[in-house]
Amino acid sequence: SKKVAILTSGGDAPGMNACIRAIVLVCERSGFDVLGYLHGYNGLLKQQYRELDARQMHNLTQRGGTILHSARCLEFKTDESARLAAANLDELGVTTLFVIGGDGSFRGAQHLGNFWDGQIIGLPGTIDNDIVGTDATIGYFTAIETAVQSVDKVRDTADAFERVFLVEVMGRHAGFLGLNGALASASDYVILPELFENEEKTLKDILTQLNERRDQRGNVSYIIILAENLWPGGIADLVSKLEQRTETEVRPVILGHVQRGGSPVSQDRLLAMKLGAHAATLIGKPITGIMVGEQNGQAVEVPLPLTWEHSKPLDDLSVNTMTLLMNNRYA
Ligand code: ATP
Repeated sequence: SKKVAILTSGGDAPGMNACIRAIVLVCERSGFDVLGYLHGYNGLLKQQYRELDARQMHNLTQRGGTILHSARCLEFKTDESARLAAANLDELGVTTLFVIGGDGSFRGAQHLGNFWDGQIIGLPGTIDNDIVGTDATIGYFTAIETAVQSVDKVRDTADAFERVFLVEVMGRHAGFLGLNGALASASDYVILPELFENEEKTLKDILTQLNERRDQRGNVSYIIILAENLWPGGIADLVSKLEQRTETEVRPVILGHVQRGGSPVSQDRLLAMKLGAHAATLIGKPITGIMVGEQNGQAVEVPLPLTWEHSKPLDDLSVNTMTLLMNNRYA
């Protein structure tokens, strides 16, 4: 019978397990054997895998992380590694490989495709939502939820002390999590890679907003969301600059890896299942080197390079809502 394999790679994201389950269940019904490579591309190089069947998929959908474990694998960029991976897949008789991960993982999949004749299908799993060709990525909704719950808690303590809080959220080069996390938590200001111009402009803007707010409503709490790796001198630098200029205590909160964890929310489970199940129906069809995504409620197949060649723009509706409801003036 046909043999297929799955791996999860790059930053883990809630919903990866639900995606694995969907692929395994559809494969089992179609009579295919499934194996799961461990630790991303490392497992492919070291021939580390486990067999996956429906019994192991029980009670899995709601679990965060990935049962296959994820990892970075820098050496996978070499031709030698891709050749070794191809030989390993052939040795086991694998004909289709599913790669669940972000854009880096898709680059790896494309690289493998230059050396392997089998079928390669990508599934977008990352909390960053920075993948072109799909309206959302698996894990993104849960990460927003986690960020929002955290900011809600920060708001309570910020209110009690009428303080300014600076909350750093993930999203290395993309502001989706920052923007929608800021909106949903009714934060006051958001600093995003797509809209950031320079330090001075941002500082001035925040001060103007903060002072206006205080004139109107008195001394209230003020929550600023900052995308990670964006402020040139880091979050501590922004805290001290704000403290100097506002003469108010400013407290930093770095949400960090909690945003990757937790049980996936329904939206991520559903997206993971829809994409995983659809992907499994493509096994053996003359289509390879693609990502399965969702656009306007439809499953779509997008050539892998199109997923990373351009950066995905923030959606207009969220940006417009931000300018209408939040204090940012720079949009
Ligand atoms: P996230 O953005 O959520 O962290 P990601 O999939 O983008 O997920 P990366 O660390 O960028 O995460 O990439 C994951 C792995 O993909 C790398 O560790 C490496 O094994 C492989 N990879 C990335 N880029 C390439 C490339 N150009 N060629 C071959 N393999 C690559």
